[in-house]
Amino acid sequence: MRQKASSNERLDSAEREQPLCPTCDRPASTTLEDETYTYGSGEGAVELNVRLPVRHCEACDFHFIDQVGERIRTEAVYLHHGLLTPWEIRAIRENRRLSRAAFAEITGLGEATIKRWETGAITQNRANDRYLRLLNDDTCWSALKRLVAPKSEPPPARAASTHRSRSTTSAPPAAAASP
Ligand SMILES: [Zn+2]
Repeated sequence: MRQKASSNERLDSAEREQPLCPTCDRPASTTLEDETYTYGSGEGAVELNVRLPVRHCEACDFHFIDQVGERIRTEAVYLHHGLLTPWEIRAIRENRRLSRAAFAEITGLGEATIKRWETGAITQNRANDRYLRLLNDDTCWSALKRLVAPKSEPPPARAASTHRSRSTTSAPPAAAASP
């Protein structure tokens, strides 16, 4: 699974890093530790298992979890719900080489909403999660672009008309994801 693989790669690189201790600024060492934590509360509470890079500063004997570990914890929650992670959503947009504004223009999604999804401030609902996955498919993306900008490919018979000189107003530059 893609998510698992990327998480493992991140663990590998996290192991090689030497982050600085937040209390004394000295380099900390890393060990990988399995953690089980409870997510949610009441009847909906679930136990999630993650392997985290735990940092240890030998100088001041401080153990801590940094951004890498926090990200792994966050990803586990999205994975549990079967939803795209904020980083995956961002990657879908960036694969199209589009700014949030341009992506919003084509998809009909709100620019602020996209930002909130990408930063994890809010979580997309199931319908939008599926929409986003479709946007990652080249065939769907092409179909969407035809839907949004039917005038971008004028029928050959009428191409001679002097009227279509609206050149660079709305179309994002080189947005096509042609391989
Ligand atoms: Zn320290």
